[in-house]
Amino acid sequence: MGRQECRYEHFYIGGEWVGASTGHVITPVNPSTEVALGSVPKALEADVDAAVDAARRAFDERGGWSGWEPGRRAEVMERFATEIEARAGRIAELVSLQNGMPISMSRQLEAGYPTEVLRYYAGLARTTDFSEVRGGLLGGSIEVRHVPVGVAAAIVPWNYPQVLSMFKIAPAMAAGCTVVLKPSPEAVFDSFLVAEAAEAAGVPAGVLNVVPGGREAGAHLVAHPGVDKVAFTGSTPAGRVVAETCGRLLRPVTLELGGKSAGIILDDAELDPATIGEDLIRATLTNNGQTCFLSTRILAPRSRYAEVVDLVTELARTLPVGDAMDENTLIGPLTTAHQRERVEGHIAKGRSEGGRITTGGGRPVGLDKGWFIEPTVFADVGSGFGVAQEEIFGPVLCVLPYDDVDDAVRIANDSDYGLGGTVWTSDPERGAAVARRVRTGTIGVNRYLPDPVAPFGGVKASGLGTELGPEGLESYLQIQSVYC
Ligand code: NAD
Repeated sequence: MGRQECRYEHFYIGGEWVGASTGHVITPVNPSTEVALGSVPKALEADVDAAVDAARRAFDERGGWSGWEPGRRAEVMERFATEIEARAGRIAELVSLQNGMPISMSRQLEAGYPTEVLRYYAGLARTTDFSEVRGGLLGGSIEVRHVPVGVAAAIVPWNYPQVLSMFKIAPAMAAGCTVVLKPSPEAVFDSFLVAEAAEAAGVPAGVLNVVPGGREAGAHLVAHPGVDKVAFTGSTPAGRVVAETCGRLLRPVTLELGGKSAGIILDDAELDPATIGEDLIRATLTNNGQTCFLSTRILAPRSRYAEVVDLVTELARTLPVGDAMDENTLIGPLTTAHQRERVEGHIAKGRSEGGRITTGGGRPVGLDKGWFIEPTVFADVGSGFGVAQEEIFGPVLCVLPYDDVDDAVRIANDSDYGLGGTVWTSDPERGAAVARRVRTGTIGVNRYLPDPVAPFGGVKASGLGTELGPEGLESYLQIQSVYC
């Protein structure tokens, strides 16, 4: 697809393209140019009801998807991956046009990585034992069955619409669940391509249903009596609301929420931009700072504090900022005007708290259209500052000094969040030992890359439960013991 208008008029429900219950539409805007991109129908309650009904019927059908032999489901999933790959170029473009992710990045992350996740779970469907027989202590035998939990509601944000959808769709399909996906209004077009791929791959009707809508549609879906499990990725405040509903309904839920992770630079780290630069930028500023796990609190040994500030400043200052569709861009715009205002508010707060801006702090000169913000670095930040505690979700880094490793671990753990993190060192074993002391769901040594085989999730205010890995499959299964 070029940059012409994109328009969809139907939802993908029960294997068909179904008209919306009302004329409400979602009209995403290109954050690089502020030009409207087109429209899709906006799901309201009746549309969500139709999607849940379709998923329910597909799940409950005797001999249907949930009862299929797992290898047969895997074949469908592999065809689905192939059909998504056939649309990869368009998917990458659509993601970048909607959320401002640099196109070189969305090709890899949003168009490439999700199909790896889908194929990985197809493989797990083939190799996982969904049933086990144990000899009983009290005589007889017991069959322990891992059965699909049912209809899964998948709710995702706009920052990685494809990856975060596939973190849910793939294990759900492998388990034998059916899915209602509710994409976020800011990034919706790409979800229609996934629906087209599902249709082309012969994914049975009702196994995947796609109904983009706002938070009201999301809330209706979470509380819907036809839903058996909720998988939510988004902000911590919204996650708490979802958790309350699921708590009341005793409905299983996974929550992937916000973060404010620490990047601990040890005193033996190589601070040469040619060695550390690319990985450090990737771990701290990927996707214009709009990534949940980024190490946005950089902790530097006091003895090398000035050196670290200079390095981070220089790396951030020289990143090419521009239109997300430009191949050279490494920092695109923020996804919405509101998001930029929020980030500017955080920068103003950091200034008023006494933080020293060493680069950035404003809107880039010469980019009059688009919701751009300069990559910004704060030095002289204390752990109690708002900029060191609150999730900013933009290209803003803070560099904090520490006295010794114990102090670094203390500062790293001085956070409501616990999602990601990194340790930078020339001694990976020492780095891993420090990493193990940080209270977080995931952490990297000299790089940060969520691998599909490893469980990914947060602790504290960053969430509940995990996605990815065999553990991600388990969250779509429930256990039944049959005493024989
Ligand atoms: P958001 O919470 O506003 O919205 C996320 C999704 O939830 C959207 O689809 C939205 O429509 C829906 N939603 C909002 N309120 C809801 C409710 N009460 N009930 C049901 N659905 C509701 O988040 P956002 O601003 O779109 O995304 C950014 C946030 O997502 C950041 O906090 C970021 O850290 C987080 N995030 C977390 C992860 C992770 O894996 N932990 C990954 C990416 C993003």
